[in-house]
Amino acid sequence: MAIRVIVSGAGGKMGREVVRAVRGAADMELVAAVDPSYAGRDAGELAGLGFTGVPVSGSLAEALARDGAHGACLVDFTAPDAVYANVMQALEAGLRVVFGTTGLSDQELGQIDRAARERGLGVIHAPNFAIGAVLMMRFAAEAARFFDEVEIIELHHDQKKDAPSGTAVKTAEMIREARGRRSRRLDAETEVLPGARGGELDGVRIHSVRLPGLVAHQEVILGLPGQTLTIRHDSLDRASFMPGVLLAIRKVGEVTGLVYGLERLLFEA
Ligand code: NAP
Repeated sequence: MAIRVIVSGAGGKMGREVVRAVRGAADMELVAAVDPSYAGRDAGELAGLGFTGVPVSGSLAEALARDGAHGACLVDFTAPDAVYANVMQALEAGLRVVFGTTGLSDQELGQIDRAARERGLGVIHAPNFAIGAVLMMRFAAEAARFFDEVEIIELHHDQKKDAPSGTAVKTAEMIREARGRRSRRLDAETEVLPGARGGELDGVRIHSVRLPGLVAHQEVILGLPGQTLTIRHDSLDRASFMPGVLLAIRKVGEVTGLVYGLERLLFEA
């Protein structure tokens, strides 16, 4: 039986890509789509597939009333201020959830985990669904054990609403975990222009670049006296995220609570 999928944020850049990927997957069925900005439009037409007969609903409640929505998997690529309510509403309705929307706090992620466990449901969130990005984070964490200093430069398109990126935050967390300690704090520095040294998480400096023309890119630069090592990943097209999203949709029925990070599916299977 096909895995039934509801796409939230279906009119957005990622949502359209997810609609195309789900429609192209033989084991999945697109049963509903949500995006208040595109209510009433056909989800397939928005995604460049032609008419699919799946109208975009103006709210999740409306989508949940559609045939086939019961027990489906919600895939959310919306906005930092919308995703928490969407995920909670989906869990209350008994849906499993895969979400890529970034910008949630640790507290909100914890609440999602608890709500999912209480209902015996699975949620998978990856701040980056591209396999190359997952490997970049892993290699950076491994290398950070051998380097005194590390800084992260993340670069995204100019429509991105949150900064720093969820990928950069996750990378800094993985570096701290791999090292078992915070990185050194450079307290002696003077910032002549506030923000010039970026933000700091666990002692790792993060610099966010936003420019038209970019998609999603990250560089981790590690330094030791006399040498640097640069690990870089580029998502050149949003198709790069789709194998990871489809994998999460296939796996979310097998997990309980929140699974955070695509690496948990790739390396712990
Ligand atoms: P986008 O183009 O702005 O698309 C988001 C869409 O969601 C917009 O059409 C937006 O409408 C709609 N929306 C807002 N609130 C909604 C709600 N309550 N219910 C349903 N739809 C709603 O953004 P994007 O580039 O696709 O990115 C979406 C999110 O995914 C961002 O947080 C981004 O950082 C993240 N992302 C994650 C990955 C990953 O691998 N994890 C990769 C790329 C992007 P309005 O424009 O009217 O607000």
